[in-house]
Amino acid sequence: MRVRIDEDACAGTGQCEMICPEVFVVDTVSRLLTDTPPPDLHATVQEAADNCPTAAIIISNGP
Ligand code: SF4
Repeated sequence: MRVRIDEDACAGTGQCEMICPEVFVVDTVSRLLTDTPPPDLHATVQEAADNCPTAAIIISNGP
């Protein structure tokens, strides 16, 4: 899993940090503590992406 933030789309609402503070830290926009979260966080990162109101969390799978 690889994660990135579309900073133009992010509205800084903070849900991602509330759901998965191991990966997301929100200042004016969300920042990533890692763009390759470990497997045990994948479900939580996906949950954060699913709950982002502006679809600013982009997940890609594969190498
Ligand atoms: S939930 Fe989405 S819009 Fe809100 S801070 Fe996180 S990435 Fe940005």
